[in-house]
Amino acid sequence: MPFSSLGLIPSLVRAAGKVGYAAPTPIQAGAIPVILRGGDLLGAAQTGSGKTAAFALPLLQAMLAPCSGPRQVRALVLVPTRELAAQVGEAIRALAKHLPVPLKVAIVFGGVSINPQMMAMRGGADIVVATPGRLLDLVEHNAVKLSAVSMLVLDEADRLLDLGFSEELGRILGLMPAQRQTLFFSATFPPDVQALADTLLRAPVRVEV
Ligand code: AMP
Repeated sequence: MPFSSLGLIPSLVRAAGKVGYAAPTPIQAGAIPVILRGGDLLGAAQTGSGKTAAFALPLLQAMLAPCSGPRQVRALVLVPTRELAAQVGEAIRALAKHLPVPLKVAIVFGGVSINPQMMAMRGGADIVVATPGRLLDLVEHNAVKLSAVSMLVLDEADRLLDLGFSEELGRILGLMPAQRQTLFFSATFPPDVQALADTLLRAPVRVEV
């Protein structure tokens, strides 16, 4: 099955080709049409499955819709570690580079000085890829607002909970509109992960690989 049969616009099909993705992986083939229809998604997928592009391609397509006014954060990707923030953020940037509309992707993680990240947020961003603690620091410094987020992605939700981010997640969710599309990816579904999915997702489609 080619990328062009999943409902992606031609510039995103081309972007996938340019970063070297010839054909969709199973998680991409399953998840992309669901996400493009606007539904919530529960993705049971490991690292290496191609899950990043599974959410990045439809997320970018949603971000291409024209919006008026100043740049506001419309998509938030929460990840458990700084390595994953860098990896996911760069993967989204690599795809976004080939699009006709310039989209700004901010990458935010702890363990480094907050100042460059505050500077980078000046002028806003369309997409933020973040670890939870540093994201809240930036919110407290008034460097980021989450009130216009219409797409939320939880990547590696099981590791987010394992690393003790439950309280931060609750605070972040309270800063976002309830009316949004939520995509939830996890490799495992112990009871606490399933409970989080149940509270976050509305009538999700489950895609398992
Ligand atoms: P991920 O599971 O998102 O961490 O992706 C694992 C690796 O697969 C990354 O190096 C991606 O660049 C690569 N990848 C993702 N989608 C595809 C695809 N459709 N075809 C070939 N490689 C891919």
